[in-house]
Amino acid sequence: MGFFSMNIQGNSYQDGSAIEISFYEGIIDSIAPVQTPLGQDLILGPGFTDIQVNGYGGIDYNEIHSDPIKLAEISRLLYKEGVTTHFPTLITNDPEQISRLILQLVSLRKSDEFSRMSIEGLHIEGPFISPMDGPRGAHPKKFVCAPDWSLVQKWQLEAKGLIKIITLSPEWENAVPFIERCVEHGILVSIGHTNATHQQILDAVKAGASLSTHLGNGAHPILARHPNYIWSQLSQNELSASIIADGFHLPEEVIQVFKQVKKENLMLVSDSVSLSGMPAGDYSLHIGGEVTLTPAGKLHLKSNPSILAGSASNIRSGVSFLIKNKLASLSEAWDMASVRPERLVNPGHRLFKEGSIADLILCKKLEDGDLEVLKTIKHGREVFSA
Ligand SMILES: [Zn+2]
Repeated sequence: MGFFSMNIQGNSYQDGSAIEISFYEGIIDSIAPVQTPLGQDLILGPGFTDIQVNGYGGIDYNEIHSDPIKLAEISRLLYKEGVTTHFPTLITNDPEQISRLILQLVSLRKSDEFSRMSIEGLHIEGPFISPMDGPRGAHPKKFVCAPDWSLVQKWQLEAKGLIKIITLSPEWENAVPFIERCVEHGILVSIGHTNATHQQILDAVKAGASLSTHLGNGAHPILARHPNYIWSQLSQNELSASIIADGFHLPEEVIQVFKQVKKENLMLVSDSVSLSGMPAGDYSLHIGGEVTLTPAGKLHLKSNPSILAGSASNIRSGVSFLIKNKLASLSEAWDMASVRPERLVNPGHRLFKEGSIADLILCKKLEDGDLEVLKTIKHGREVFSA
């Protein structure tokens, strides 16, 4: 593939100052101020990183496709939303099926350059989660099981080392040694879909768990005031937290509190399922069963509207939601969807700095605070232009 020397101008997402970024062979050469003022609504910043993508645009990473190349469409659709890096997320399933889904992703990355560039790792969410109704969410109960290191080793071999995140519940008896092994082998362990006690959460953190997956969701609809697993996760500074900011998964005041507690360790995920971007209606998901997508974009179990079944959003709309509702400044909301998740999964990788990979997006900030993506640059190549 050809690399080009290119540059792009815009107002920095950090402070609004007019800048020009030059890059060569996919790496940022220089970030320099520009004297002539640019249109104020043109914002330039790092591309978004979404560490939880189950599917998008009617296509599901959790289904086997007769031609895996169909999945390549997800990376292209996400470029349009400014997502330059994403982690396909495989949820609780038959272990053999998880193997097949992993192999499908490996073959996708082999045959499609854009997917290879976009997919930095895989996120395995389950099957080592809570079997309980509520915390389990839409994950199928029959495949939920205790943490099994030999299974993870097999999957990691099949994935050629691509598994970077595992979401589990520390309520299982063998959770501590399992978490230690994952961390030793460079897999980030996140707590989610859990019914763990306070002590089990403390033990998990001590063993190396470092993230809470979509904190405040994958939980009982009604919970003891205290102690409970949400307070426990909030109390641990070693735990970063991801949240879904789509207006349905968390009330605004909860996002405000999570922000105040987790500070720069709070980040966005979309948790998008294949129905993201699809018309409202009832759907039957391959995994997750019968679900309903409302006209307002809420996705819930058909049998119980209080249990959400993933989100029908994307991480760009999450950033817009925070800005529109004054839950975060533009620069902070943007960081929550780019710099913060990237720092977590890839500590050596800096974004939006001289010498870092040129993953950049140019957006137009609309009157209501919404962001419209005009241009997406992945590793120095223009991969989307409006
Ligand atoms: Zn989940």
